[in-house]
Amino acid sequence: MAKSDYYGTLGVRRDASAEEIKKAYRRLARELHPDVNPDPATQERFKEITQAYEVLSDPGKRQMYDLGGDPFGGAGGGAGAGGFGAGFPFSDIMDAFFGTAAGGGGRGPRSRARRGRNATIRVELDLRESAFGTTRELTVDTAVLCEVCTGSGAAAGTHPDTCDMCNGRGEVSQVTRSFLGQVMTSRPCPQCGGFGSIIRHPCQECSGDGRVRTRRTIKVRIPAGVEDGTHIQLAGEGEIGPGGGPPGDLFLEIVERPHEIFERRGDDLHCTVQIPMTAAALGTILTVETLDGAEEIDVRPGTQSGQTISLYGRGVQRLNETGRGDLLIHVNVETPSRLDPAQEELLKELARLRGEERPPGKFAPGQQGFFSRLRDAFNGR
Ligand SMILES: [Zn+2]
Ligand SMILES: [Zn+2]
Repeated sequence: MAKSDYYGTLGVRRDASAEEIKKAYRRLARELHPDVNPDPATQERFKEITQAYEVLSDPGKRQMYDLGGDPFGGAGGGAGAGGFGAGFPFSDIMDAFFGTAAGGGGRGPRSRARRGRNATIRVELDLRESAFGTTRELTVDTAVLCEVCTGSGAAAGTHPDTCDMCNGRGEVSQVTRSFLGQVMTSRPCPQCGGFGSIIRHPCQECSGDGRVRTRRTIKVRIPAGVEDGTHIQLAGEGEIGPGGGPPGDLFLEIVERPHEIFERRGDDLHCTVQIPMTAAALGTILTVETLDGAEEIDVRPGTQSGQTISLYGRGVQRLNETGRGDLLIHVNVETPSRLDPAQEELLKELARLRGEERPPGKFAPGQQGFFSRLRDAFNGR
């Protein structure tokens, strides 16, 4: 039994997307449909492309076919002979011709149980909490399973009745004539809304929704290294679905409060300290605050305004990695103002000794000054 080349039949590549396969089938089906072209050879060809489409449009069957299996499980006595007939899901053809409009309702009753919605809550953290991680108790308004009906929506001791309009199928069918000949269209049953059953006595606790709103408290661990805008997904912690459906996810959106001293850029922290001109010239030991407590830093003699002192590993913990960013201390040298006569005299004496009474005013090298700061600003450093 020779295996059909479904890709060749539809004229698509083996890696064709679902959309390409649908397009190819649609184009061929318009051409070869028996109502358009009743010649027997054409009909045979129509069966072939339809069978190819049936397999390639279904991800499960396509995979089986790609792996060399027989997606029809031997039923119908082999490829080419069976396939198109009673068992063929008609909505797939409608789908191919008219897009998704006719497809949706054609799969029997739909379940009342649907997945719950995702929820997002904002969590405000200060810098220390986002740097080191924290644990929070959060109160969330959410929907939980109704314990009275355990999600069914029917009052205690009752069951949903089978819908008498669609006999529980959830859809009603109608035969119309079109250019394809007789066409059967299906649409969701208007009486039961496609569920196939009707809840005549809704649960009073949840009004038939299968869930009730409540407020609950959850304890969450927020990992070290999160930053403003980080989303943390808590799978299954969102609202439970209608009809006892599975819950959605809960997302925490991190909002980081600005720190009064430290500015965070990625995992590094930046701060600025002011030191007097004399300390910058002579060198000094400064005590500065870090996230880990006070630390002494060595300001070397001759430190210039704008220089940076780095404290390695004193920044923020890297999210999901080892190591921490750095703390970069920008030094700002203060020029003394409002000198008293004695100070002024001393400074003049210093200027005389250094031959700086009338300095020439050299241009600073470009890399050190304005342009490098501009470049850093662009590069986000
Ligand atoms: Zn209920
Ligand atoms: Zn119905």
